[in-house]
Amino acid sequence: MPAPSPRPPRRHVLVLGGTAEARRLAAALAAHPAGIRVTTSLAGRTARPEAPAGEVRIGGFGGAEGLAEWLRAHRVDALVDATHPFAESITANAARAAAATGVPVVVLRRPGWRPVPGDRWYDVPSLAAAAEALPGLGERVFLSTGRLGLAAFARLTGRHFLVRAVERPDPPLPPDTEVLLARGPFTLAGERELLRAHRIDVLVTKDSGGEATAAKLTAARELGLPVVVVRRPALPDGVPAVPDVAAVLRRLGLAPDGTGQAEQAGKPT
Ligand code: NAP
Repeated sequence: MPAPSPRPPRRHVLVLGGTAEARRLAAALAAHPAGIRVTTSLAGRTARPEAPAGEVRIGGFGGAEGLAEWLRAHRVDALVDATHPFAESITANAARAAAATGVPVVVLRRPGWRPVPGDRWYDVPSLAAAAEALPGLGERVFLSTGRLGLAAFARLTGRHFLVRAVERPDPPLPPDTEVLLARGPFTLAGERELLRAHRIDVLVTKDSGGEATAAKLTAARELGLPVVVVRRPALPDGVPAVPDVAAVLRRLGLAPDGTGQAEQAGKPT
């Protein structure tokens, strides 16, 4: 009797995570009938992260070289950068590691927010520029930029800051700061009430995109409040980006509905 032919190894996809999209992608890959091995990598910033489907590793790789070494050692077939649009260093590292190893890479980036009639948005390129833009716009500031990088506002005296974040931000913070610990999604009714109850007169946000945290923008529009929008850093040159999980699956040669067969993922252009 001929020996049974060995099963081909499962394709291994590494997802750089830390976002809701990354969790949705890991779930879709883990459930795919093509039999994908999926590992999600988390930076380890959150004390109790929501566990994604599949395997998980936690902590930095040690730069682009460390990531390249990990890709080789764990025989990764495709790399998906599904990190937050403002996680600039890991995205740059992913591009460099993919180029060094020849592992195909694709960036999953949810689309950014765009103003609609009635919005009073002030676009700025960084948190430091947002801090510079605040004088003249308002005295009671809703800072919804997350817990990282708040040192940019630390020298601003004579203003009240309401900081909302999932976990307590580290100092330095502005002297008059109230911290609200909360995790999205947030509703329009809730955001309206928050802005009113705290007598907010200016909102600062990153252009994170997505539905989960967009209600604050609608609430600000309704109340006629100015919004300082920190625009996203640019993606590294030559790295393809797609807007959603279905597009990543197509890029990997996998039907988004879970019915398709795996194809050989071409090297992204
Ligand atoms: P970053 O500045 O781009 O990354 C700093 C360093 O953290 C990287 O060089 C890398 O360390 C490590 N790292 C980041 N993401 C990693 C991942 N998914 N797996 C393993 N190591 C990772 O990133 P950040 O802005 O600090 O964000 C950290 C994480 O929080 C990201 O995964 C991101 O998706 C999530 N997040 C960020 C924001 C934000 O506004 N920045 C918001 C929500 C969620 P090594 O160089 O040692 O490999």
